Amino acid sequence: MGIVVQKYGGSSVADANGIKRVAQRIVNTRKAGHDVVVVVSAMGDTTDELRDLAEQVTPLPPPRELDMLLTAGERMSMALVAMAIAQLGHKAQSFTGSQAGVITDSAHGRAKIIDITPGRIEAAIKDGAIAIVAGFQGVSQDTKDVTTLGRGASDTTAVALAAALGADVCEIYSDVDGVFTADPRIVPAARKLDRLSTEEMLEMAASGAKILHLRCVEYARRYNMPVHVRSSFSQKEGTWIIPDAQGAQMEQAIIAGVAHDRSEAKITVVGVPDKVGEAARIFEALATTEANLDMIVQNVSAAATGRTDISFTLPRADGQTAMTALARIQDEVGYEQLLYNDQVGKVSLIGAGMRSHPGITAKFFASLAAAGVNIEMISTSEIRISVIVADAQVDEAVRATHSAFDLDAEEVEAVVYGGTGR
Ligand code: ASP
Ligand code: MG
Repeated sequence: MGIVVQKYGGSSVADANGIKRVAQRIVNTRKAGHDVVVVVSAMGDTTDELRDLAEQVTPLPPPRELDMLLTAGERMSMALVAMAIAQLGHKAQSFTGSQAGVITDSAHGRAKIIDITPGRIEAAIKDGAIAIVAGFQGVSQDTKDVTTLGRGASDTTAVALAAALGADVCEIYSDVDGVFTADPRIVPAARKLDRLSTEEMLEMAASGAKILHLRCVEYARRYNMPVHVRSSFSQKEGTWIIPDAQGAQMEQAIIAGVAHDRSEAKITVVGVPDKVGEAARIFEALATTEANLDMIVQNVSAAATGRTDISFTLPRADGQTAMTALARIQDEVGYEQLLYNDQVGKVSLIGAGMRSHPGITAKFFASLAAAGVNIEMISTSEIRISVIVADAQVDEAVRATHSAFDLDAEEVEAVVYGGTGR
């Protein structure tokens, strides 16, 4: 039988008991005849605690040193998991990202994987050992410094490694039973999805569903890697994320789920002269901040003034930098004023079946209207409709949409087994 890559998140390895429990699961997979490669996250809230510690020492930790510090979290859990496996009488060896051949660019805190050369992992497997790899980290090709891939990126390490090793499947273990039709903390009647296309999962992750790291889904899609999202606390089947090529034959539910995101802010540039090149100037200034812009809307210009408003959303964390960059070009562009609003949230309806079912948009908007939710911005893709609404109305909007599309389960299925939600 082939290689199985398993990734265990922080809440699955939060303490010694968790580590022993996970080791037993790994050994069981090994006993079933698979070669097993494991990717681990840092124990519990370790990464946040290390960050807090750094901030107590300095408000602006040098990025290189911060990465050095944060990667220590995964080093602890990988060694402990390897020890627990040895205690069960099986051979295990732990590897840092660098040792596992995770080669990245040199952007500290958000490094991208550019290559994986897993020679040592392959050798360990050949040797009959279970390889345990530290997630979320790599080594820069240029500087040879240790890098991190961004918060939550152990998922990405796992899928990238699974692809490089030609694994049969990448199993992502967390503290919930799989991917749900909505966040169970907001919609207790959310249902677990048995399967989902990578395309739908990509839209869910990009729309704020936190169960999987966005880049991990991009990897799964690019390399056709099946991903099984499941709980390390139960034996239940989780959610299978099926590559689109295979998913094409599967019968699609019209709607996969409702995702929401409270991490964005909205900026409006008011009174932009409606002339060639103004939008380019505005977005060139924003590009220098490297903020990832999400929705962008430009209105029809008012006939009387020849001016228009341009609104866009971006991560709240980038809000101030973007405002400063825009303020700098006010004279050059000649817009009237800037508005900043971070009391907004995004609600998205996702489903591959939308393509062949007209009327989804009307039903979505009608359900929001019935719930008294005002829509501030709208954007769509082939299989997603997103709206920006007031932050205070996000929960209501998610619940109303979930019910309107008959996604509510008869009985509560969602169980959250662990984690502090931090
Ligand atoms: N430990 C890292 C974090 O908390 C990576 C991960 O958990 O995936 O962001
Ligand atoms: Mg995670």
